[in-house]
Amino acid sequence: MAYKIVLLGGDGIGPEIIPAAVEVLDAVAPGQLEYEEHLFGGAAIDAHGTPLTDATLAACRHADAVLLAAAGGPKWDTTEPGLPRPEQGLLSLRKELGLFANLRPVRPLPALYEASPLKRELIEHTDLLVVRELTGGIYFGEKTRTDSRASDACVYTRAEIERIARVAFAAARSRVTSVDKANILETSRLWREVVREVHGNEFPNIEVEHVLVDTAAMRLVAAPRHFEVILTDNMFGDILSDEAAMLTGSIGLLPSASLGETPPGLFEPVHGSAPDIAGTGTANPLAMILSAALMLRRGLRLEPQALAIESAVDKALAEGLRTPDLGGDATTAQATRAVLEHL
Ligand code: NAD
Repeated sequence: MAYKIVLLGGDGIGPEIIPAAVEVLDAVAPGQLEYEEHLFGGAAIDAHGTPLTDATLAACRHADAVLLAAAGGPKWDTTEPGLPRPEQGLLSLRKELGLFANLRPVRPLPALYEASPLKRELIEHTDLLVVRELTGGIYFGEKTRTDSRASDACVYTRAEIERIARVAFAAARSRVTSVDKANILETSRLWREVVREVHGNEFPNIEVEHVLVDTAAMRLVAAPRHFEVILTDNMFGDILSDEAAMLTGSIGLLPSASLGETPPGLFEPVHGSAPDIAGTGTANPLAMILSAALMLRRGLRLEPQALAIESAVDKALAEGLRTPDLGGDATTAQATRAVLEHL
């Protein structure tokens, strides 16, 4: 039986890069995947008045995996509290599917060392994973707003910290760096206490260190090789994972996985909908294609097919494939073809 994959193209370059991923998936897993496409984000607001319809959510729940491109754009930007916004679709999808763990592997490719804003000797052999808590913390706490005052509550429970800590320790070979702001925030003090307990009780063979978020932000650019697995909360993880992403020189190269206790997981590029280049046919499809590979690995357990895609991307880049974000002039279609040729 074929795996059911829900495709959410979303907005901006999203609908241009989703087909690239599907072409590559069909080449490595012919006949093994069945697709169902749905509007999402701004496109769904335009058609249905909401970024995530009940029908789309139901389709996602019944899928084996969800592959998403990106949502949002200036057309839907609003500070009006009552109006629907594309990001609400993402937040609801994560919450409704119970996707509490966001995994972002960051491994600068040798072919692109020169594209990194950091010196080659700093980034060489960097291979880290950011494990971000995704359904708790300040993004989901109670919000209040009057004309002159606003607040966002940051709340974490012991159970929420335990399960994300387990994901991070299980993914580590030797070291987890837990990042918090325990000198200021009460939630961070609980975070540190629970991470210590999970470590001591369940993963004593993995080394753990606790680092303040400001120090972690500096160390990430000063000595990125230091990190193996970074475990952190929702907001710190949002910021640090984008900082880590830049080590590779392009946000157009990074995939991510969001996982819950059970499938479906959600697989998407780290970048947004890039409205500034939408419609030009020049979007870099590699993060989308690598998200499809991550979906095969973490969502469907098709490891050989995932590896085949990753190695085809490595080879295409090594042979000189460069989209404009990497300083070249390859189009989305040419980049996709280059990957297909190396499969
Ligand atoms: P962005 O990632 O869309 O773009 C940042 C810069 O990187 C732009 O110059 C863009 O052209 C470039 N870029 C991004 N992806 C690229 C690719 N694949 N190929 C080539 N260049 C690429 O971030 P932004 O501009 O801050 O946000 C644009 C919109 O996307 C906003 O509406 C934002 O809310 C949304 N967004 C969505 C997600 C998501 O769906 N997960 C994530 C981040 C931002």
